[in-house]
Amino acid sequence: MDSFMKQSKKAIVIGAGIAGLASAIRLKLKGFEVNVYEAQPQPGGKLNRIKIGGYSFDTGPSLFTMPHFIEELFDLAGKDISNYFSYIKSDIACHYFFEDGTRFNFYTDAHRRKKEFNNVFSDDVENIERYLTKSAYIYEKTKKTFLEKSLHKINTYLNKDILSTIFAIPNLGLFTTLHRRNKKSFKNKKLVQVFDRYATYNGSNPYKTPGIMSLIPHLENGIGTFLPKNGMFDIVEALYSLAKDIGVVFHFNQKVERVIVEKNTISGIVLSGVRIEADLVFCNVDIKIAYQKLLKDVRIPKSVLIQEPSSSALIFYWGIKKEFKELGLHNIFFSNDYKKEFELIFKKGEVIDDPTVYINITKKFVDNDAQEGCENWFVMVNVPYNSGQDWEVIRKEVRKNILIKLSRILKVDVERLIEEEEYLDPLRIEEKTSSYAGALYGSSSNSQTAAFFRNPNFSKIKGLYFVGGSVHPGGGIPLCLLSAKIATSIVK
Ligand code: FAD
Repeated sequence: MDSFMKQSKKAIVIGAGIAGLASAIRLKLKGFEVNVYEAQPQPGGKLNRIKIGGYSFDTGPSLFTMPHFIEELFDLAGKDISNYFSYIKSDIACHYFFEDGTRFNFYTDAHRRKKEFNNVFSDDVENIERYLTKSAYIYEKTKKTFLEKSLHKINTYLNKDILSTIFAIPNLGLFTTLHRRNKKSFKNKKLVQVFDRYATYNGSNPYKTPGIMSLIPHLENGIGTFLPKNGMFDIVEALYSLAKDIGVVFHFNQKVERVIVEKNTISGIVLSGVRIEADLVFCNVDIKIAYQKLLKDVRIPKSVLIQEPSSSALIFYWGIKKEFKELGLHNIFFSNDYKKEFELIFKKGEVIDDPTVYINITKKFVDNDAQEGCENWFVMVNVPYNSGQDWEVIRKEVRKNILIKLSRILKVDVERLIEEEEYLDPLRIEEKTSSYAGALYGSSSNSQTAAFFRNPNFSKIKGLYFVGGSVHPGGGIPLCLLSAKIATSIVK
């Protein structure tokens, strides 16, 4: 009887971003009838793909960590993941370039890493290993409390895992900033900059975000840096196929207009003026946009209003008619004044004229992404969220500055090598994925309390749940997948 009742319950998922897909799979496996409504013609949201001429590009996320959260979904469904998805591990997390000519590879293997760092940072080799060990410790001590459970349910604080977190508090770096922790940990300023950069993995400012973010290097270097066989969009295709195979129904080009709330309980959605009934609604739409557009009659929680959006990005997709042996999958060209770069982004809403440049080249592993002798460059700089700046002007200026910087360091006129070109800016991110102000990761973590102000995965409205990068536990693929896990675990 119970299972019959569950079968007949209807769940609607709004948005087929990564958290929407994971939620749909988990809800279906819990016995719900699941329909996903997506405004765009395809699933994926920020995680998408474009083809320009002979070049293919992943448009959003490029760094894939913690693949076990994807594997878990296939295990749960009793499906063999190898029929859907495979990936490789990269032995170099990132290639770093500095203006003074310093270059090095951050190897994930400890032996190779120590050898490489001995050549560049001999005074800090042991400090780096100590830091990474501590990074792993912080992750282990906090993951169950801060990442894998709701911070807004009393059970989280009555669980045995909380004791382990509480005892570790003096070592977590909750009361310092990431930059201060890094400054204390390394002698060489370049290493401080390398480890400060991890704040950008959730769109935050290293000079403000708490030291607990020093757990992020463990995800990249300890657990590993991975790449799906055909690039990042494989993640979407695999989850979409799995969801369809277990019976989730998808509706594309369907922008939900409103969520219907009656007597503080969900009763469905409105689509093209038509009412569609549901017992549960899982909202994968950015939380601010969800309250502003879909839940107009519901009071916006104050915590949602006061959240500072994360940074955004300007991305140039360049088809480059040359191969660069010195570049790898992930490459960073640092700015000389990191502090000013972040001050401009977060305090003034501007972009420095010497920005840190990230280049991702999937052609290094995925042969079909560019022709022989060519490379698909995803060139990204961190920029402020949209607050009405003239992005046309900024984009042209940033493009010029990136080209000057890269040409100087790589000793070649990069502009002459660009064969195909496209771009993404905060306005386009906002328009294509309904992300508030074009923020990449929902809200920033620029304060000690930011994690607690992120919206919970449930709401006061019965039957309404929130998943995705703008709610707990935060942005980025692994955390979005966890938001789906937490939210569906709360559903009775
Ligand atoms: P989103 O991707 O935000 O998708 C939400 C979906 O909801 C969209 O498809 C949208 O069309 C749909 N929608 C919105 N409103 C409606 C409506 N009314 N009706 C129907 N559908 C609607 N993360 C990493 O882990 N590694 C990285 O390297 C990384 N780099 C990034 C680089 C860029 C340029 C960007 C943009 C993001 C990056 N991220 C990265 C962050 C990561 O992409 C996001 O955190 C994650 O993809 C967000 O997924 P989501 O589930 O919140 O849904």
